[in-house]
Amino acid sequence: MLVDAHCHLTGTHLAQDQVKPTLDRAFAAGVTGFIAVGTDREDSRAVLALAREVPCVQASLGHHPHEAKSWNAETAAELEAMALDPNVRFIGETGLDWHYDLSPREDQERAFRAQIQLAKLLRKPLMIHTRSAPEATLRILWEEGAEEVSGTIHCFSEDMAFAEGALELGFYLSFSGIVTFKNAHAVRDVAAWAPEDRILVETDSPYLAPVPHRGKTNEPGFVRFVAEQLAQLRGTSSARIEDMTTRNLEALCGWAPPV
Ligand SMILES: [Zn+2]
Repeated sequence: MLVDAHCHLTGTHLAQDQVKPTLDRAFAAGVTGFIAVGTDREDSRAVLALAREVPCVQASLGHHPHEAKSWNAETAAELEAMALDPNVRFIGETGLDWHYDLSPREDQERAFRAQIQLAKLLRKPLMIHTRSAPEATLRILWEEGAEEVSGTIHCFSEDMAFAEGALELGFYLSFSGIVTFKNAHAVRDVAAWAPEDRILVETDSPYLAPVPHRGKTNEPGFVRFVAEQLAQLRGTSSARIEDMTTRNLEALCGWAPPV
């Protein structure tokens, strides 16, 4: 039993007639739970509708740093109203992306801080996206008191120093297909070392397919390749990784997939 701790099943990410076949293929691969993630207001609406309809899917609702320039009071109010729903398990993805800088950094920071406060208000963990802004991400999480709710560092792609900082805040490290890339030395080192009770696995599908599907469209069923690679790096069994990551997700957000 595996859970994909971060995937995109809605909006522009995946054609809507492909959702059911995609989930069926994942089931056939032994993946029985999915955290579907919203990246803006409209996408979060679609994610919530899906999570209400499909019992093996739960929602993470938020406003991605790429979209931060459109963050405003209305977005905040609608997100808050939607996130009250018990099918919503996380707030995000939110954070900082200083690699692409698709929104001005001040906007990214404002939307990030506001979503940390929303997570605290609703007592739900955060789904963090961070790229090329490790110090600022940790600083803002501390300044806003994010350790009260903790959360996950989605698609972990930083180094050991960042991992230590995130663990100190009580966060979980969610590993993606990056661990299957041979040249991702820093990420693989962290994946081999991270405490067993703080690891998760995800696909971030449809992006970032793991080896042996690298370069193709990713899908939640491929989280199996991530788990197998993690097992190999840690010198343990895939079954153990499945078990631990499923339990860790439940410890973090209070949900395990229906058996
Ligand atoms: Zn994502």
